[in-house]
Amino acid sequence: MSQITETIHSLPVDPQTGAIAVPIYQTSTFVQEAPGIHKGFDYARTNNPTRKVLEDVIAKLEGGQQGIAFSSGLAAIDAVLKLLKAGDEIIAVDDIYGGAFRLFTHVYEKFGIRVKYVDTTDPANIEKALSPNTALIWIETPTNPTLKITDIEEVAIIARAYDCLLCIDNTFASPVLQRPLALGADIVVHSATKYLGGHSDLIAGLVVARNQELGERIKFIQNASGAVLSPFDSWLVLRGIETLHLRVKQHCENARRIAEWLEAHPAVEKVHYPGLPSHPGHQVARRQCSGFGGVVSFVLKDNSATAATRFASSTSYFKLAESLGGVKSLLCHPASMTHKSIPAEKRRQSGVEDGLIRLSVGLEDVRDLIQDLESAFAAVGSKVATPV
Ligand SMILES: *Cc1c(COP(=O)(O)O)cnc(C)c1O
Repeated sequence: MSQITETIHSLPVDPQTGAIAVPIYQTSTFVQEAPGIHKGFDYARTNNPTRKVLEDVIAKLEGGQQGIAFSSGLAAIDAVLKLLKAGDEIIAVDDIYGGAFRLFTHVYEKFGIRVKYVDTTDPANIEKALSPNTALIWIETPTNPTLKITDIEEVAIIARAYDCLLCIDNTFASPVLQRPLALGADIVVHSATKYLGGHSDLIAGLVVARNQELGERIKFIQNASGAVLSPFDSWLVLRGIETLHLRVKQHCENARRIAEWLEAHPAVEKVHYPGLPSHPGHQVARRQCSGFGGVVSFVLKDNSATAATRFASSTSYFKLAESLGGVKSLLCHPASMTHKSIPAEKRRQSGVEDGLIRLSVGLEDVRDLIQDLESAFAAVGSKVATPV
């Protein structure tokens, strides 16, 4: 059976009523036959039937033993960090998602957990940063917004040799394009707010554990800390997952067309897209992903905040907003939005230049999207490029 068919049919028909859609169990508690005798559900923080379907489906999609659903991507990341104890160290990808940086550095360092940020595109940097206290390696690939690629298999070999956990934030790729557990990772996290939900209408997070033991520890943390995903939002993510393969395929196709067009554009200095042969991570991405995703970023030739701000305010289909992975295309100016809190020099060094624009390429007709971008180039006073 293909993975697509398996995913669609892993949303079960309701055995009680025959409902083809998964029912939303909007309940806080479950009546017991006798004290401690129940149908597998006792209290809805601990377990909810709608959430459980989602947890089973994401585990299957990622090829893990246990899925655990949270009220946001950051709540999912938070639960993984709670596996650690004071004195432990984390080695994390240096251009980590800003919210994860804030959580690691401004919340967990207070509790005696140390974080070292390194450029993981060269796994040798991870080996240099290892210490006997390293308990967790944290990778995003591709990263945001410059789409750097880390070789998951190589990092997994290091993690195993030094007996530390490897967690991959798989938000940008989605399980359709990249399955980190099969490449040797122990844990996968998702902001299901992005491609899994897919419609820009919810906030959700997921964790998948490679083995039962790890899964049970995270399940324990989910119940103990309580940041669970609601039944309705679980249902929305399930609804998103039903069309995930189709959507991701079209996101990739549209993004590739736009990346190639941008690369040939006279007003563009540089394009970051792992699907382009010019991208430094292209070969690794080809090996570990079955597609290159829906996010493209690029630097304007006029590499100034003024030009980039004007560009970002001049599109009509690309809406100016943070986030990604939805049906409608979005764009943002990382230097003044998502990465504003990083000191300018450090920000530029990591590739987030003043003239950098990030696109979340949606599902519109790509010809309309290209025309939209062309009119924004015109608005910043660039020459008109080759027609599509
Ligand atoms: C958005 C995002 C998160 C955080 O997820 P929320 O659902 O917003 O809490 C974490 N990692 C990555 C890569 C993201 O893009």
